[in-house]
Amino acid sequence: MDRVECVVIGAGVVGLAVARALALSGREVMVLEAADAIGTGTSSRNSEVIHAGIYYAQGSLKAKLCVQGKQLLYDYCVERGIAHRRCGKLIVATSEAQLPQLQGIIAKAAANGVDDLVLLSAEEARAMEPHLACVGAVYSPSTGIVDSHALMLSLLGDLENAGGMLALNSPLKQAQCAQGAIVLVAEDGTELEADWVVNAAGLSAPALASRFAGLAAEHVPSAYYAKGNYFTLSGRAPFSRLVYPAPEAAGLGVHLTLDMGGQAKFGPDVQWVDDPADLQVDPRRGDGFYAEVRKYWPGLPDGALQPGYAGIRPKIQAPHEAAKDFVIQGPAVHGVPGLVNLFGIESPGLTSSLAIAQQVLACLQAPVQAQPGAR
Ligand SMILES: Cc1cc2nc3c(=O)[nH]c(=O)nc-3n(C[C@H](O)[C@H](O)[C@H](O)COP(=O)(O)OP(=O)(O)OC[C@H]3O[C@@H](n4cnc5c(N)ncnc54)[C@H](O)[C@@H]3O)c2cc1C
Repeated sequence: MDRVECVVIGAGVVGLAVARALALSGREVMVLEAADAIGTGTSSRNSEVIHAGIYYAQGSLKAKLCVQGKQLLYDYCVERGIAHRRCGKLIVATSEAQLPQLQGIIAKAAANGVDDLVLLSAEEARAMEPHLACVGAVYSPSTGIVDSHALMLSLLGDLENAGGMLALNSPLKQAQCAQGAIVLVAEDGTELEADWVVNAAGLSAPALASRFAGLAAEHVPSAYYAKGNYFTLSGRAPFSRLVYPAPEAAGLGVHLTLDMGGQAKFGPDVQWVDDPADLQVDPRRGDGFYAEVRKYWPGLPDGALQPGYAGIRPKIQAPHEAAKDFVIQGPAVHGVPGLVNLFGIESPGLTSSLAIAQQVLACLQAPVQAQPGAR
């Protein structure tokens, strides 16, 4: 049986960032990816926003890793010439009832170490974006956008330069976790032994972990899927910054984001689905989009929105449950030496990817204490 020091399962932005960090730390690394290319999962179906770290609960991994990851990502983009833009964003209150939320957003951000938010009157916001309708806004200058494909290609380049390998068309089926090593079994029956395994399989991470013999079932969360649909704007948007409504329960509201070419898209909405492969955008959802977007852009012309694409949030809480944090689950939690599972890496996972990678390394290097629940 072949043996590799570290195996990362999944070549999305998080798996690639983790694999790169492991390779740069001098480890032998192989990435196993089920698809025939990198980044075909959630990593290519998102808003490509570099989040500031505003919305997340104080002390959560989402808050900490977003703020750290944002800085690491901006620095990395500059260093490697990856297309990005620190364009800023406006979070808008479109009714008097939403105004108090703006102060709450500023306080929450400050608790997370994001202290550059500015409260704006409606007039000040319209001076920045004349087509905006709002009764007040918060401006976040450190929010930006990034070309996520260029980012992933750069991470892969670093991985390969450091001696790491990528195996495409290599879906992992199951694993046997023992004290000495982890034996991985691919769908085609090939076996591979590894000292360290990082499960970065995104939407499939919980299902895959449930097929890891030796990992107690209590450590594997249930998976839920919250689809986010996007509609694209034909023609150019009269905005140069991102525009977000006041946030909703399961997502950040139907917001306006721009890509590196200045093209606008609106979304994602929230549609709970049973099938993680359900990626079609139903054109009929467009009606709801017109209503949501016109709350802050009344000038949106009829017929201007086209169905775009959809991404699915890898949730680990059911629709009625409170939002859960990222789970970076290492040996200190589950007792299996050398294994890290990444669960619930939804937004701001792209922003946080380089910081998640550092956290995974720390997790693997932490001392292990066998847990009574581990088989
Ligand atoms: C609608 C939406 C909008 C978002 N917007 C933003 C945003 O603006 N900013 C931000 O910071 N974050 C955003 N996110 C979150 C971000 O996209 C994710 O956190 C990030 O892409 C997760 O990357 P990943 O590598 O964990 O997962 P993925 O990109 O899903 O990669 C997992 C990989 O694992 C592979 N895989 C699965 N099973 C196996 C197996 N058995 N064997 C081998 N390979 C396997 C898959 O093929 C896939 O390539 C958004 C997410 C969604 C859904």
